[in-house]
Amino acid sequence: MKYIAQHSIVLLSIVMFLYNIYLGNGSWPTDTVEFIAEFTMLLACLAVMYYIRQLRPYPDVYWLMLSGSAFYYIYAFMDILEEFFINSTVGITNIDDYIQTIGFVLLCVGIHNWIVLHRSFIQKLELKAETDHLTGLFNRHAFFKRMNPKSKQEEGIQGAFLIMDIDHFKAVNDTYGHTLGDVVLQGVAQELKSHIRANDILARWGGEEFLLYLNDVMNEEALVTAESLRKFIEQLVFQYEGESVQCTISIGIYNVNSSIRLDTAIDRADKALYKAKSKGRNCVVVNSGVII
Ligand code: GH3
Ligand code: MG
Ligand code: MG
Repeated sequence: MKYIAQHSIVLLSIVMFLYNIYLGNGSWPTDTVEFIAEFTMLLACLAVMYYIRQLRPYPDVYWLMLSGSAFYYIYAFMDILEEFFINSTVGITNIDDYIQTIGFVLLCVGIHNWIVLHRSFIQKLELKAETDHLTGLFNRHAFFKRMNPKSKQEEGIQGAFLIMDIDHFKAVNDTYGHTLGDVVLQGVAQELKSHIRANDILARWGGEEFLLYLNDVMNEEALVTAESLRKFIEQLVFQYEGESVQCTISIGIYNVNSSIRLDTAIDRADKALYKAKSKGRNCVVVNSGVII
């Protein structure tokens, strides 16, 4: 049954109330304002006790918040009892204060755990929102998020943009199926990732296209890096259920050493890629401004 702990606490309080009526020493509260305040508190605690059930999948938060609000509920209930029945907490002085303190401490620890849980959720969601599901690489959004601060530096961007596109990838899908196509995409992504430095930025740009920003690397050095990536990919063999396939990539480069809009730089690398495709694929082309 749902809400079993909550129902039990409420039931217990009703029994206590009825028992006090049975004893027969009750009278209607004289201080109406105080009664309304205490009753409102009781209702608020009751609402928290029930509402908090949504957090049941997270016991570290749920049980602390439930017991905290339950203790507070009992404290508010005892206050109300005192309004109706003088000496309802006979013999045990200040017990309602102790109950209130325990309830408050439990709620504080519960809120702390809730904040920790919330923070870890946000981190997971942020990671998910920035990651391409298939390859595990950054997506476009994450690429721009990391590049934007660089583009706002006074000296602008200092590095090379490489757009890499798998050649004739549609034929891989058509011949071997999409599953092997996915294996190739994942494999290429992981191999590219293992070949870049920590401060380079690699993202899945589109279907079978990857965008790489080589930080502080330009001209000859960027070309050498691109060539080594191209040669590395062409000798890889991807396998799935007895089928094996090799692939090549074409790469377009645009070197930047100034302030430039990110989309302009990427567009120029893309034009170099287009040129690499028209040159026969499996090659690297640099856009030095002449090919536009
Ligand atoms: P080119 O050498 O000119 O780049 O030819 P291409 O066949 O690689 O390029 P095209 O744009 O004609 O086809 C890209 C293919 O990539 C088509 C699409 O089905 C495939 N593709 C895109 N995303 C995925 C994916 O996530 N998984 C798989 N398996 N295929 C994908
Ligand atoms: Mg392609
Ligand atoms: Mg493409």
